[in-house]
Amino acid sequence: MTMLITALFTAPLVGIRKRWPRVLHAIEMDGIPVHDLDGTATSACGVTGLRIVAVADEDGTDFVVPWPPYVEGLAPNHERCKACFDACKKKRPRSRFAPRKDAA
Ligand SMILES: [Zn+2]
Repeated sequence: MTMLITALFTAPLVGIRKRWPRVLHAIEMDGIPVHDLDGTATSACGVTGLRIVAVADEDGTDFVVPWPPYVEGLAPNHERCKACFDACKKKRPRSRFAPRKDAA
């Protein structure tokens, strides 16, 4: 529940498709699966079936990742969806994205 509240305050968030995890999409508030955070989200560019990206801190607490991420900090072969970037008004990078080691 805490994560949902955080997610709503933080939106848009970074989301990925499980089958195509190297493209980072934006999930705006209306795309967040509020009834089931483990469900799938919809991106600002209209892609469905997204997972909200969460990173864990040292305590194992999951944090959502604010959109947009810095392009410079992206892992090799990752990219930021341009359509989502254009669709979102918040253009200033707000996060650095480093995929979990077990995510690849
Ligand atoms: Zn997109």
